[in-house]
Amino acid sequence: MESILERLVQRDPEQQEFHQAVFEVMDTVKPVLERNPEYRQQAIVDRITEPERVIMFRVPWMDDQGQVHVNRGFRVEMNSAIGPYKGGLRFHPSVTLSIIKFLAFEQVFKNSLTTLQMGGGKGGSDFNPKGRSDGEVMRFCQAFMTELSRHIGPNTDVPAGDIGVGAREIGYLFGMYKKLRNEFTGVLTGKSLAWGGSLIRPEATGYGVVYFAAEMLSHHGDSLEDKKCLVSGSGNVAQFTTEKIIQMKGKVLTLSDSSGYIFDEEGIDAEKLSFVKHLKNIRRGRIREYCDQYPQAIYTEAAPELDHNPLWAHQADCAFPSATQNEIHARDADNLAKGGVRLVAEGANMPSTPNAINIFLDSNILYGPSKAANAGGVAVSGLEMAQNSMRLSWPRKEVDKRLRQIMKSIHTTCTDAATEYGLEGNYMAGANIAGFVKVVNAMLDQGLV
Ligand code: NDP
Repeated sequence: MESILERLVQRDPEQQEFHQAVFEVMDTVKPVLERNPEYRQQAIVDRITEPERVIMFRVPWMDDQGQVHVNRGFRVEMNSAIGPYKGGLRFHPSVTLSIIKFLAFEQVFKNSLTTLQMGGGKGGSDFNPKGRSDGEVMRFCQAFMTELSRHIGPNTDVPAGDIGVGAREIGYLFGMYKKLRNEFTGVLTGKSLAWGGSLIRPEATGYGVVYFAAEMLSHHGDSLEDKKCLVSGSGNVAQFTTEKIIQMKGKVLTLSDSSGYIFDEEGIDAEKLSFVKHLKNIRRGRIREYCDQYPQAIYTEAAPELDHNPLWAHQADCAFPSATQNEIHARDADNLAKGGVRLVAEGANMPSTPNAINIFLDSNILYGPSKAANAGGVAVSGLEMAQNSMRLSWPRKEVDKRLRQIMKSIHTTCTDAATEYGLEGNYMAGANIAGFVKVVNAMLDQGLV
């Protein structure tokens, strides 16, 4: 194993996020490899860490002033052993091949946990939609899809949203795909309700995280009622995590964006959340404006030069990181433990560094890793694909019921897999082992392809 991982680093030394994701999974599946010599004989670790296909392309587009820009587009088709590639598109200036590869790798195991038939992929661009007009975003999406459309399809690869790609971008991307291919198919998920979207899809990741957290607490004889919760981010995942926590009678104290965070000791209730949704989704404003409307709240500017984020130093019971990767460092994890946090459920992908995870596990904090806790989004995307295939639309209650059932089943799968390997209570090991075994067995069934 060590020599395989060494080779992986030597081959792409700059892909640190990808290495981090691979090391985390491979470290926890060592006992599985020991128990199954055929996995080693079939070079499963080499095969599962190498994407089936990496697509990189030029995206030229013109801004409102007539200036031409060139961005880089990516789609990593990581693994199709259990279904067509499935995973979101991220538009953010920090996007690199390493980020997309780490996200695609995580997606493989997450999708495997959902019980649905979806392989893993991820894509995006270093394009920054912030501050761009609707027309500029549309032209960028059209240019991006002009190339991507050759590689995707409802039975091949089905992208969705992620950071910087919401309902508006999915609309422009879908429109261009339809025009280029002259077919109306479920090639993207996260579509608008009027043209093939699923009810509950926008809510699914956030709701799913909270359902998963409620399962973890209930497994330990507790509930979310009256729990003080720290939430980071203020985008799609953070908004619907907050909504579900409120519905389950918990209290959300914080929200953030990349410029800073707000702390509202009285709690963010449904009315305040609806202000945030309007601020972020319609006005595309900054979270600091929350304090103009609710002056009792305190705004703290982001200080990336610090080794910690003061958001995680508030006293609370539960934490829901919902912004981006590696947002919780060792010092933050220490602060969370000292502040009384008993549960961390990850809405964002890989928001905790390896050292932070070790601190959670050593402090007996219930730690719900992203590939299990935030799988509700892709699960409902899978349900959207099923509805598209049948040309049917299930009612809200039906989709929500299925989502809740899937999150419950992921919880059971993780606890059972951890127990089977003598790692009771370790959700990270349980998620990695269960996700890995299903994909690997499918790969072995299908031969050397
Ligand atoms: P959005 O674009 O809707 O929101 C992202 C939020 O995180 C914004 O508040 C943004 O602030 C903040 N953020 C982004 N990058 C940074 C950064 N480098 N530092 C600090 N804050 C940052 O994205 P989503 O809510 O969809 O995604 C959030 C996380 O959840 C991501 O990790 C994503 O991969 C994960 N996820 C999303 C799913 C989905 O269905 N949408 C499914 C599963 C996982 P700002 O506005 O200032 O950029």
